Amino acid sequence: MNIALIAHDKKKELMIQFCIAYKGILQDHVLYATGTTGKVIIENTGLDVYRFLSGPQGGDQQIGARIAYNEIDLVLFFRDPLNAESYEPDVFPLLRLCDMHNIPIATNLATAEVLIQGLKRGDLDWRDVVNPKKKKEQK
Ligand code: PGA
Repeated sequence: MNIALIAHDKKKELMIQFCIAYKGILQDHVLYATGTTGKVIIENTGLDVYRFLSGPQGGDQQIGARIAYNEIDLVLFFRDPLNAESYEPDVFPLLRLCDMHNIPIATNLATAEVLIQGLKRGDLDWRDVVNPKKKKEQK
């Protein structure tokens, strides 16, 4: 599966802890992230992550473009609810595009954990029919 990881600044530590906790699952998938989120995940977990531009430079939109092509299978976007005014413009377009293509998206830890467990259990295997992909090695 192609998984997009994004965390606002106040949620980056949470993202790191999440990736450490679920490294055993995440390492079997192709990971994408906005620039700084990807950097801290790589530095703290050793996971292989393809990094787009940083969020403020357009990384969210780069991920949005992949979602628009239905190429992302799961989005974990840990957003900062206390800074909604400045961040909401980043989040809503991604939510809309995910709804358009029925792509699962979590915006908080509780939902992310349910989705990652579902991923492990095979609940999202139907995404391989919608979005057939090459093996991870051929990335
Ligand atoms: P960042 O972007 O990972 O580059 O910090 C995240 C965001 O603010 O959307």
